[in-house]
Amino acid sequence: MRRIDLKKANVARPNTIRDINRQIILNYVRERGPISRAEIAQETALQRSTVSLIVDELKSGGLIEEVSGESTGGRPPILLSLRTADAVAIGVDLGTIRTLVATSDLAGRVLEQEEFPTDPDAQKTISRIIDSARKLICKNRGTIEGVGVSLPGLVDQETGTAIFIPHFKWRDLEIAEEIRSAVGLAVTADNDANAAALAELWFGRPEIREVRDFIMVLIEEGVGTGIVFDGQVYRGKSGAAGEFGHMTIGQDAPVACAAGSHRCWEAFASERAALARYAKLRRGTSGSNKINFGQLVGLAFGGEREAQSALKETAYYLGLGIANLIQGLSPEAVIVGGPIVRAWPLIVNEIRTAVQNSICRGLPPAHIIASTLGAEPTLMGALSLVLTAKFTPVSLS
Ligand SMILES: [Zn+2]
Repeated sequence: MRRIDLKKANVARPNTIRDINRQIILNYVRERGPISRAEIAQETALQRSTVSLIVDELKSGGLIEEVSGESTGGRPPILLSLRTADAVAIGVDLGTIRTLVATSDLAGRVLEQEEFPTDPDAQKTISRIIDSARKLICKNRGTIEGVGVSLPGLVDQETGTAIFIPHFKWRDLEIAEEIRSAVGLAVTADNDANAAALAELWFGRPEIREVRDFIMVLIEEGVGTGIVFDGQVYRGKSGAAGEFGHMTIGQDAPVACAAGSHRCWEAFASERAALARYAKLRRGTSGSNKINFGQLVGLAFGGEREAQSALKETAYYLGLGIANLIQGLSPEAVIVGGPIVRAWPLIVNEIRTAVQNSICRGLPPAHIIASTLGAEPTLMGALSLVLTAKFTPVSLS
């Protein structure tokens, strides 16, 4: 049983109970809508009058709306669904190569998006983000409520400070505060793998949403992990939890990790590792071997042997690391996210076999699945930083 934290505990005042009931009803509408008041009352065992009262409150707060159901002869029933008429969130997915800025409605549907190359000069990138955000805020005339920022590095989520972004060597960047003071909205920043894990938890396929313990493994330039325990992202001190990309997996990796070591998981299983393997396999052959990761996946699907081998060897090391995570944390599922998901049919067997062969007998296995958020889990992650706050009771957050 979870030990009560007296510093954070809220005494169950009538308002707390009401607040929790409000969130339960809102989440019924979010996950099961369109749904009727009667069905909610039946499922939650709350009184009809309580449900109606809270529904009115959620309606006037602009969170849910009434829609007509299918008529079965008489008058069509009135059902409730999330209000998705407006853009409510801006997500900023700051990647090592490009930055995406997008708006979404309350259900997490992306409405508009733009992108630009990420400038190694942090201030230039932040200025571009502010310009894009201002434009979108202005265009949507007051409906945007907050901005979420996903970053490829160590982030103190409480203060919104990027502690260290290895690719650009950015340190102690108060990115949330800089954007907040420029656009005048609440801004939340988090590590990209943590944000993607949050998105998977709230906006993933229903079978993922029911899993309470899982690990998101994000494969990009580096390897990041987001850990979800008991339905919430585990952050540890200063949000630095989940740096499994730097666990030791072997020696003489094809590339160095962001911190310069050739022994870390990231040095064996990142996109950079796959590209270095490919370049080595192609050495001495004609033509340019300087390609990006998307092109590598394309060549592998086109049947090129070296491209397939480079991906499969990378998948093997991905599996080794995943086996270590499973043995240490025993999650129900491990979700792999990032552009590598496009190559899933080519690599899934390699990953699963490596995991099976590396887990010691008797230890429980876990499901290994590709992200259900498509190839942009980090954009969805950035949006989730704003959206999930709407669905979490104030007294429990
Ligand atoms: Zn390392």
